[in-house]
Amino acid sequence: MEEEIQNIIKSTKEKNKKSDSKLIIKAYEYAKNHHGNQKRESGELFMVHPVAVASILTELGLDDQAICVALLHDIIEDTDAKRDEILKEFGPEITEMIEGITKLKKLEYQTKEEQQVENYRRLFLAMAKDVRVVLIKLADRLNNMQTLKHLSRKSQIRISKETLDIYAPLANRLGIYSLKSELENLAFKYLYPEEYKELLEGIKGKKEERLKFLDVISDNIKSHLKEADIEFDIQSRVKHFYSIYRKMQRDNCGLESIYDLFAIRILVNSVKDCYAVLGIVHELYNPIPGKIKDYIAVPKSNNYQSLHTTLIGANGVPFEVQIRTWEMHQVAEFGVAAHWAFKEANKHKRVTVTVKEDKLAWVRETLKWQGETQDPEEFMKVLKTELFEDEVYVFTPKGDIKVLPRGSNTIDLAYSIHEEIGNKMTGAKVNNKMKPIITELKNGDIVEIITSDNSTGPSRDWLKFVKSSGAKTKIQKWFRKIEKEETKDKQDIKKSDVGANIIRPEIQKLSNVGSTAISTQGHSQNASTGIKVKGIDNCLVKFSKCCNPLPGDEIVGYITKGRGVSIHRSNCSNISGLISEEARLIDVYWEKDVDTSYNVDIEVLSSDRKGLLADIIKEIGNAKTVKLLGVNSKITKDQIAIIELKLEITNLKELKKMINILKSVQSVYEVNRRK
Ligand code: MN
Repeated sequence: MEEEIQNIIKSTKEKNKKSDSKLIIKAYEYAKNHHGNQKRESGELFMVHPVAVASILTELGLDDQAICVALLHDIIEDTDAKRDEILKEFGPEITEMIEGITKLKKLEYQTKEEQQVENYRRLFLAMAKDVRVVLIKLADRLNNMQTLKHLSRKSQIRISKETLDIYAPLANRLGIYSLKSELENLAFKYLYPEEYKELLEGIKGKKEERLKFLDVISDNIKSHLKEADIEFDIQSRVKHFYSIYRKMQRDNCGLESIYDLFAIRILVNSVKDCYAVLGIVHELYNPIPGKIKDYIAVPKSNNYQSLHTTLIGANGVPFEVQIRTWEMHQVAEFGVAAHWAFKEANKHKRVTVTVKEDKLAWVRETLKWQGETQDPEEFMKVLKTELFEDEVYVFTPKGDIKVLPRGSNTIDLAYSIHEEIGNKMTGAKVNNKMKPIITELKNGDIVEIITSDNSTGPSRDWLKFVKSSGAKTKIQKWFRKIEKEETKDKQDIKKSDVGANIIRPEIQKLSNVGSTAISTQGHSQNASTGIKVKGIDNCLVKFSKCCNPLPGDEIVGYITKGRGVSIHRSNCSNISGLISEEARLIDVYWEKDVDTSYNVDIEVLSSDRKGLLADIIKEIGNAKTVKLLGVNSKITKDQIAIIELKLEITNLKELKKMINILKSVQSVYEVNRRK
């Protein structure tokens, strides 16, 4: 044990020169004094356990505080140590974490759904507060799994089940593959001892033959990479047992049919090198179409990044190659822990890991959603899909990959692209065919979301169908906003002055007309937009709402993040604000002779008079090529009526004509197209 704590101190110092060895020794001594002669089931001194947990965390590269907490994690629960004394000795940061761990202690597998929800909630709260608490909890669980043989069969099963149900998926979600795979393998061993043994022997039999096969390939790759002057490290490895077992279960097949039991992994210095290596490997061996996965361009939801490709080797035997940078490798192995692990220094000097994205955003999102739902059963269902590994990968028409919880439908996808896309969704095409929006998505589906500016927003029913908590939160947000607006409208009517009252009933009537028009006339993104984007066929085009371009207007395209190209008028103030992002502007043209209509917003200024609105509506009604989609009107203190109209119109010429007609309406003195 003395030797182990020495190793911990040595290794922490190696990773971080500023590491406070004295603090770690102090925590060790303090814990040892309090645990005294306590024993574990194995008969060993209890203190062996906290030291082992600290050692796991050292390997993950956690900081001094976390290592101290690991050493002290059982003292509140199992000894007479008092909180106040710990606070005095080690300060608030360490004390709070120890308390966090102690609270999580009671987290035990329950069959009662409500109890389980409460357990998850505690785990999530702890995580949102300080993710280190959960990492320590995972290390604690790993050591308990490592020493599980000393417990009764009944306990082994209960603890293993809990590990597989909660802790391994959690480690996966946090991106810590090293912890996840060891937890899974151990749980697998105890839960399915027969299958475990069978697999172990089956793999042993194949190991030598397969590694020889991979050696030949890896030698070939090595010599070509050297020629290309790429610095690299190459490894051949066996995939972890439990994932093989799951694959066999899922595909209902034997060990023989799993060809990627063994894989080659190539680590390089830069993203550029990753793609260069992929190119070289594809020159040497034929890739299996559809098996190339670019998790560099589109990382998994736990931030895993890598290139995966499956190739055909000698005699037609397939094998998998994974290519990633050292940095990606650290993140893959250590997940969120990499944030602490490699901030200061690491063994591969070439790498500096910077955590760019908020890796715990999903934790907060789920908690936020949980705050809004009262139904534990419902919460459990969503949480399980969020937390558990099951994910489905689909493509946008532009080829972007989106990761969603398994069971997601096109509504989930729409909201994962953007809140607005979800709110304006009217339909979806899956693999080029129109499908109901609740169609469940499968891996590899190409999905196009059809939106319309005339959409009346999401339906409450959608809440029943969506799987992701992100979509649920956004739909609920929409309804909350609507309810707020409705209350405000009612208050406004009460408050409004006499002038407005004259015009109100007409608006009420018109907005009904407007909504009929919306449902029957609404044109979708799917219909020809009449826009050609330079160099791209078939790309998702969206008319910007800020300036509503019409055929004949000078226009420019802006390449949005994952939402296709949005079309603006060249003089739109939003576009001039984007000069710094010039690279994302693209040339777009109006196609000739396209029979499509566009929305345009018009503002009519007039002195207020009786029958004004009716006259305006009548004129619009007379123009056959123009449709009225919506109207809004207000009256200023000076008795000026400001009438906002939303029209559907075919081109700029028609618009000019309409504007002139409206200008001729009695008492109107100005008609503008709104920007
Ligand atoms: Mn413990």
